[in-house]
Amino acid sequence: MYQLIDGKKISAEIKDEVKEKVRLMKEEGKSVALAVIQVGNDPASTVYVGNKKKACAYCGIGSPNYELPEETTEEELLALIEKLNLDDSVNGILVQLPLPKHINEDKVIQSISPKKDVDGFHEKSVGALCIGSKGFVSCTPQGVIELLKRSGISIQGKHCVVVGRSNIVGKPMAMLLLRENGTVTVCHSKTENLREITKLADILVVAIGKPKFIDDTYVKEGAVVIDVGIHRDENNKLCGDVDFEKVAPHTSAITPVPGGVGPMTIAMLMSNCAKAVED
Ligand code: NDP
Repeated sequence: MYQLIDGKKISAEIKDEVKEKVRLMKEEGKSVALAVIQVGNDPASTVYVGNKKKACAYCGIGSPNYELPEETTEEELLALIEKLNLDDSVNGILVQLPLPKHINEDKVIQSISPKKDVDGFHEKSVGALCIGSKGFVSCTPQGVIELLKRSGISIQGKHCVVVGRSNIVGKPMAMLLLRENGTVTVCHSKTENLREITKLADILVVAIGKPKFIDDTYVKEGAVVIDVGIHRDENNKLCGDVDFEKVAPHTSAITPVPGGVGPMTIAMLMSNCAKAVED
């Protein structure tokens, strides 16, 4: 029987730990605030922003909200970020992606002070992760590491295969597993014989953005499988990049979708906000 890795429970534990940290900080007269910027009114972004603000409220973190119209210019957005970079009452800055097409996303991300880059997307944060120095780490891959650790799954010496090499999931995931002394292989859309490689994984992390792509033929018996993907299937039900029904019986542990990696992203964002005050 496999272990179902419970992201809902673990993320709730982390948020409670952050809440307590924030309470203690407040006793010392320090407050924590995350500035949340949304440009336009993409419905999915509105849901994500709402969830982040809800988590902030739960943890006692302030979340000044900046809802900017779709027509906001790049210059206007950069000016707001500059103002928030200089505002000592703001510890973290989050710009909800995607941005409207007329705004250069990369330019905006790089304009956030690395000290307030709680999403961990700034090139300085990514560089710090690569060389093992202090900096914010992208929330989703950091959440995967917490899921493994808090489920009693050891990474050291294990062959970890990451499928996907995006800047926000795959690449930082590989670096974090390496930092935990895993032996890491990264696969992507040009990888030849993907199945042969994934079948060697003790820990398989899948972040490819293709519903139910990974079935049991890709997985070694007894492997740990972490599914980062989120999709709606043909019946409008949430599913991941892994075909859970087919894969789960062959694993020693697996994350479900929903209730696996998903809730961890916001929990780690809260944790990064608290760290922004400590540092
Ligand atoms: P991207 O689309 O940015 O990256 C997908 C990666 O998968 C690319 O590196 C791509 O390779 C690789 N890939 C695509 N097809 C294949 C294939 N057939 N075989 C092997 N590799 C392949 O996605 P993200 O990393 O942003 O997200 C991945 C998934 O995770 C999505 O489902 C997304 O919704 C979900 N997600 C979930 C989060 C959460 O909070 N749980 C947060 C962020 C993302 P190449 O580089 O060669 O193109």
